[in-house]
Amino acid sequence: MIERVVKEIADEMRQRPDRGEVASYIPELARVDPGAFGLAVIDAEGNVAAAGDADVPFSIQSISKVFTLTLALGKAGDRLWRRVGREPSGSAFNSIVQLEHERGIPRNPFINAGAIAVTDLILSGHQPREALGEILRFMQFLSDDANITIDRAVAASEQRTGFRNAALANYMKSFGVLENPVEFTLGVYFHHCAIAMTCKQLAMAGRFLAHSGINPATGALVVHPDRAKRINAVMLTCGHYDGSGEFAYRVGLPGKSGVGGGILAIAPGKASIAVWSPGLDAAGNSHLGRVALEALTKRLGWSIFGV
Ligand code: GLN
Repeated sequence: MIERVVKEIADEMRQRPDRGEVASYIPELARVDPGAFGLAVIDAEGNVAAAGDADVPFSIQSISKVFTLTLALGKAGDRLWRRVGREPSGSAFNSIVQLEHERGIPRNPFINAGAIAVTDLILSGHQPREALGEILRFMQFLSDDANITIDRAVAASEQRTGFRNAALANYMKSFGVLENPVEFTLGVYFHHCAIAMTCKQLAMAGRFLAHSGINPATGALVVHPDRAKRINAVMLTCGHYDGSGEFAYRVGLPGKSGVGGGILAIAPGKASIAVWSPGLDAAGNSHLGRVALEALTKRLGWSIFGV
């Protein structure tokens, strides 16, 4: 049943003319084929249903923020919430204005400022290379795949052009919210955003969130069930920036998007889902990714709000 629905949706998405706009503010991302579409669903038993370009690696960008949040909570526990809030922002992912009102404390860990603060916390006490290694190894461990790598061209492209993120970081530094040199924190941030993964790998990595903190493939407890619940809550309310309300309304699952066109969505107790379509909507979220997830949750009755 899941397999049939996944194939149907991938076929339907291939035909759609409305594909959104590929991100171009990171020049390297503008080279991606807007016609690409991949979908992978891994259910509680570990069955993988995949279609389209589900084996093609793409830039996970802000989806990495789910995993850096998980790592940072592991390091700092609830003390993390002194450095970053957990309320939806209602503003763009790279908004600067809110930071001034809130004295350098970002609204949530998924907007850029919040994710940079989280990266800074992971970096403290380490060299940038070690911190990045820790993040990459965590992704490889969760996906059970040692071949996951960082796309250096994407990282370099953003490092050259990420003036707005540099502004956010410097602004937070002025309030004492960042502990490390700004260029170190940004370097780690740009590189973890540039991790390249396929839909299948990403759906694997998200499984612990769908199963109360346990990766059912190995039985390993990745995080306590209470923490998995909380990460899902922040994904639901903040995972799509100022499009989070619309995503909850249409899809009804915790989800996290990235400007590479990927979305990781969690159907608690049921499945981990990854979709990729590079064209974005005005809020910087994958347009067809959202459309596909809306169709999927509707046909399988998977919205957390019922039917
Ligand atoms: N690396 C990107 C940036 O900082 C991530 C943004 C995103 O995926 N929404 O702009």
